[in-house]
Amino acid sequence: MTTITDPQERRLLVGGRLVEADTTIAVENPATGENAGDCPVASPALLDEAVDGAVHAGRAWAADPDGRRRALEAVAGVLVDNADLLARTLSLETGLPINDAGFEVAAAAGFARYRASVPLPVDVIHDDGRQRVHVHRAPIGVVAAIIPWNAPIMIAAEKISTSLAAGNTVVLKPSPLAPLATVLLGKLLADVLPPGVLNVVVGGDDLGAALVAHPGVGMVSFTGSTGAGRAIMAAAAPRLKRLSLELGGNDAAIVLPDVAVETVAAKIFMGAFYRGGQVCAAIKRLYVHDDVVEQLVGALTRLAEATIVGDPLDPATTMGPIANRPQFERVRALVDSAAASGGTLVTGGEPSPGPGLFYPPTLVLGLDPGADLVAQEQFGPALPVLSFSDVDEAVEAANATDFGLGASVWTSDVGAGTAIAARLDAGSAWVNRHALVVPDVPFGGTKQSGVGRANGAVGLDTYCELRTVSVALPRRK
Ligand code: NAD
Repeated sequence: MTTITDPQERRLLVGGRLVEADTTIAVENPATGENAGDCPVASPALLDEAVDGAVHAGRAWAADPDGRRRALEAVAGVLVDNADLLARTLSLETGLPINDAGFEVAAAAGFARYRASVPLPVDVIHDDGRQRVHVHRAPIGVVAAIIPWNAPIMIAAEKISTSLAAGNTVVLKPSPLAPLATVLLGKLLADVLPPGVLNVVVGGDDLGAALVAHPGVGMVSFTGSTGAGRAIMAAAAPRLKRLSLELGGNDAAIVLPDVAVETVAAKIFMGAFYRGGQVCAAIKRLYVHDDVVEQLVGALTRLAEATIVGDPLDPATTMGPIANRPQFERVRALVDSAAASGGTLVTGGEPSPGPGLFYPPTLVLGLDPGADLVAQEQFGPALPVLSFSDVDEAVEAANATDFGLGASVWTSDVGAGTAIAARLDAGSAWVNRHALVVPDVPFGGTKQSGVGRANGAVGLDTYCELRTVSVALPRRK
């Protein structure tokens, strides 16, 4: 069965009620071209109801930190208990291989569990005979959580967990290209969260814009493209809404000549092609030292050709289709433009026959730094490989982008790699790993890749108002 047949799984969560809507959108299954399921769309009135529900639930929620911790444990439990159903829905609407969809749901549970385990801290700045200065965390209010199509359950879980841990309530809007798993998550979480604490509404960019502008919203937590991030920042300005912007990336990986090629090849291939490259912090440009470029490209080509591209519901599949048609067209245009501008296609480069949106892992050599596939974010299974002879040049090229999400260095000399990592202008610089995003480590972008950091202690602070309480103590006689 390649559609979601149960309409009970496709209702919006609004003020504690599960509601159908007059209007629906058809969500395309990218593996078959069929309709994966019709999803209800929120009207402006339902959006108001959702924000009002979140506002009203806020006071009791903010006052009950122990209840919040228990609720977050229950959220993790719901994710674990319903992992198969959520993973299947995710796979149907995004083409994610079923095993990877299962990993995503498990990772999502990890985000909830982590936030359940960390109490809101109080910073003691001074506590002596003269003064007591403490910094407390208070909730902001209603968080508008707006998410993209590429990893909706993990990103939703990160935003829900952090918002709720801080004492906020949430109105969550998934992408209209992949809303079904998120809507299902809302339905499941309605059983363990008080009414109004979490609301899930579906619609296009216009509904997102209305949510951002809504006077009941205090913070916008957005993950998506840099262009939409800019629009959201401008729209949040009139009321100075708090912002977390997790935006696009064009991560470079720099491979030094001392690597054990076969060992790093498998990790670099994963870094670039896991989930078909549709990962914000995937390796999107590969800079390889002249001494090892031929050997590494050979190893990556073998891995590309061994990739099992096919039915995402088949557990043997290691790469599904591109998740939706606009993204498929984007990747195809970037590879065609790379070939037209003199790039050498080492492997891949042509979509596989339909009806699904299948595109094989593609490696392109010999591009200029200004080529579109190098300069823009491809967000798909096509990797440009550039060679270098001098590591300073490679660092300069890696940094020569407006993006700054992640970057990595690959070397047998961990000390040298760490020193080079410190010169990479990105929110995360990895050595011999890439795109490790975990609940307790800050993650986010420099430059046009974002504002603020998710995860860890700093990620929690992003969702809080910091309140300094400063007390002058009476002089001791
Ligand atoms: P997108 O920006 O087109 O859409 C993301 C979400 O924002 C959708 O729900 C959309 O409806 C909504 N939206 C769009 N315009 C809006 C506006 N003006 N106001 C309010 N909401 C609006 O992005 P996408 O195509 O869904 O996702 C791909 C992008 O997301 C890539 O650039 C990728 O790198 C980025 N991404 C970043 C991270 C990160 O953590 N930095 C993680 C995943 C994806």
